[in-house]
Amino acid sequence: MPTPRLETEPAVLILGAGPAGLACAMELSRKGVHSTVVERDEQIGGLAKTLTFKEGDDVFLTDIGPHRFFSKNQYLYDFIEDLLQEEWRKVPRLTRQFVDGKYFNYPVNFQQVVKNLGLWRSARIGVDYVLARLRYGLLKKPLRTFEDYVVANFGRSLAEFSMINYSEKIWGIPCADIHPDWAKQRISGLNLWSVFKNAIGLRGKKGPKSLVDEFYYPQFGTGRIYEEIGKHLRKTGTSITTGSEPVKVRHDGTKITSVDIRTPEGIVTVRPQKLVESVPLTRFLELLDPPPPPPVQQAARNLKWRAQVYLFLTLNKDKVTDDNWIYFPSKDIPFGRTSEMKNFSKDMCPPGKTSFFIEFFAFEGDAIWSMTKEQLVDLVMPYFEKWGFFTRAEVRNAYLLKRAHVYPVYDSTYKQNLGVIQQWLEQLQNLVYIGRPGRFRYTNQDHSLEMGIIASRILLEGRKYDMDTVGSENEYFEKGPIYEKRI
Ligand SMILES: Cc1cc2nc3c(=O)[nH]c(=O)nc-3n(C[C@H](O)[C@H](O)[C@H](O)COP(=O)(O)OP(=O)(O)OC[C@H]3O[C@@H](n4cnc5c(N)ncnc54)[C@H](O)[C@@H]3O)c2cc1C
Repeated sequence: MPTPRLETEPAVLILGAGPAGLACAMELSRKGVHSTVVERDEQIGGLAKTLTFKEGDDVFLTDIGPHRFFSKNQYLYDFIEDLLQEEWRKVPRLTRQFVDGKYFNYPVNFQQVVKNLGLWRSARIGVDYVLARLRYGLLKKPLRTFEDYVVANFGRSLAEFSMINYSEKIWGIPCADIHPDWAKQRISGLNLWSVFKNAIGLRGKKGPKSLVDEFYYPQFGTGRIYEEIGKHLRKTGTSITTGSEPVKVRHDGTKITSVDIRTPEGIVTVRPQKLVESVPLTRFLELLDPPPPPPVQQAARNLKWRAQVYLFLTLNKDKVTDDNWIYFPSKDIPFGRTSEMKNFSKDMCPPGKTSFFIEFFAFEGDAIWSMTKEQLVDLVMPYFEKWGFFTRAEVRNAYLLKRAHVYPVYDSTYKQNLGVIQQWLEQLQNLVYIGRPGRFRYTNQDHSLEMGIIASRILLEGRKYDMDTVGSENEYFEKGPIYEKRI
């Protein structure tokens, strides 16, 4: 489809066509307001897009790391169901950790830990937990870091067994330097006592199925949600310009006045009434003209991003395992997580074949980031052959992807730096900044969709909403009901 000419005086200009930007455009269009969306990539959907790899007549689909959908917001289920109808399906969940050649369920299963680790190590876990409760509960040792948080809730032995190692792999910094916000978002409500109660059947009445058991996933990949939004937008007059990016954002100290966009045809100056920005916040600040004051620039430089490198292997094999995801917390293993798209939807692979997605955590420019596809295949294959996952002869093809702005690093000073930036941005009254990269917040797609929807309400109703309340509920990750479909 040819890229439409960029509208130069739109009511709303949206930077970034990920879940946040697209949800905002969709809600505006439903209310009759056409926006103009500018996206750097050729394909929309951001980190939640689904990629297609054709090998002769065989088609393999993959997300950039499979995206399960979970939300406590019924509006979002309805929003997606209206787009996907029967393509929106419930999937049983199996997620395990692989440690010392053994599988452990995730979240932790008490009996399995005892069986796999033996009585002595299990007793040690119990003693450490009691000591941690005394230290953090009775003696009220403050929870200043992620490490404090997980040790307080699981005891040191169990915390080190999986959470501390895995988190240090994700973030590339010691857990003692990670802000406790990460724990609040990721594992809030879980602790060793709740795991134990679960094991001995003291959980109380069984409520609705939780997302520990199942989740929703589109038949042909999570990116279908965003392709459908794109179709709706184009049909109803909202333009999406891909392969284009902002190169200058002018302001007069009270509002954004114009944005220069580099398009395949050259630079176009756009003068929007309102600007919604969902590209990396640090990049956006660099584009401002005049630049923000030095303390704000310094605060932006202090914010760090964790990158990811992905290896996608297509295989001449029917199946590797039944898992959706497998986590590898050990620091001796160079990758952090693997997944098999077929276990999300069988339509992600040709019949009789499967694929394997391998995630590495990196900093832009480091050793992993700089490796070639061939080097990465050589790095991972000895592990998979040793564990009996698949052989080199079964690998059909390998594909390499890299993304720089994946995880906003929640280090011990991130909140302070973000606060300096947010306070300064408040003066730009026609700007709303949203999404995972746009707000420098670790969110999943549901929260980015929610932020996009809230942004549309801010623009349409002129009311103030606190964007930081999205996803701040403590039970977000591993608990809560899974909604039933309406249709
Ligand atoms: C490996 C992995 C697994 C995940 N698993 C899940 C999951 O299971 N469930 C779940 O709900 N979520 C999951 N997520 C999170 C989900 O991908 C994000 O929350 C979601 O994509 C964020 O949407 P967004 O619009 O805020 O940002 P993004 O998706 O990052 O979109 C931002 C958009 O802005 C564009 N852009 C960037 N810079 C520029 C520029 N200079 N100019 C123009 N455009 C620009 C980007 O190309 C992108 O399209 C996962 C993420 C990863 C990386």
